[in-house]
Amino acid sequence: MSQPDLLKSRTAVVTGAGRGIGRAIAEAMLAAGADVWLNARTPGSLDDDCEALSLAHPGTARPVYFDVADAAQVRAGFGAVLKGSGQLDILVNNAGILRESMFEMASVESMDAQFATNLRGLLVCSQYAARLIARRGGGSIINIASIIGRVGNPGQVVYGASKAGVIGATLGMAKELGPRQIRVNAITPGVIDTALIADLAPEKRDQLVAATGLGRTGTPDDVAPLAVFLASDGARYITGQVIGVDGGLVI
Ligand code: NDP
Repeated sequence: MSQPDLLKSRTAVVTGAGRGIGRAIAEAMLAAGADVWLNARTPGSLDDDCEALSLAHPGTARPVYFDVADAAQVRAGFGAVLKGSGQLDILVNNAGILRESMFEMASVESMDAQFATNLRGLLVCSQYAARLIARRGGGSIINIASIIGRVGNPGQVVYGASKAGVIGATLGMAKELGPRQIRVNAITPGVIDTALIADLAPEKRDQLVAATGLGRTGTPDDVAPLAVFLASDGARYITGQVIGVDGGLVI
């Protein structure tokens, strides 16, 4: 189903691409012909994977190591991308963490950690990316928010607040960066089977599945095609949108 020329000659950065949704998006973009920088925090952790991915896909995969919560590392990371590719067309802000706790028990440390990764990290990455994408005459920033940022969830107040912030950032960036032809959209996944939700209590999971129109959880591969589309020319007049990939959890 992949179209190997769809993102040909484009360069993308995908944060948090070691596994889960970020990995699926990186692979789908590689299959669509983009050169993709896969980000992870641990130096060396993606070296072998990138070699294998480059052999399997038309696009070239390269690792770039930084912690999105560390602004100095982000700066160095985007510097490495510029040096290695000379251009950037697409940023997927995917890196995220979830620390569940009942609201009144949430520690300040967990608030800071979730905001630093999920929101501040996304803002800082977008700042560097926007400068590089503008040099190309335009491109696409795709923010992975969450349905929880729209509808809330017990035990996920802080996470939901950070993701609501991602939606707000998406709308503002779309307006401010639009004149430079940088399109900014958000994806709000529903319940997607990844390590992030591995600790979800079985009864809570069953409740969520029961509330999902399509009656199943999603997979990272259910999310990736929308990211590829939003990055492509087919989405050239789409910006400032918040699009659910949730199997009908919210209709
Ligand atoms: P995973 O936990 O499987 O993957 C998250 C990835 O982000 C990991 O590779 C992780 O790397 C990386 N990461 C975490 N913190 C940082 C950081 N500070 N700097 C760089 N990388 C980091 O989760 P998902 O794939 O499920 O989540 C991807 C995104 O989708 C997140 O933003 C999440 O909030 C969102 N989402 C997920 C949903 C779901 O149901 N799964 C639903 C809605 C939204 P490391 O190995 O270093 O921790």
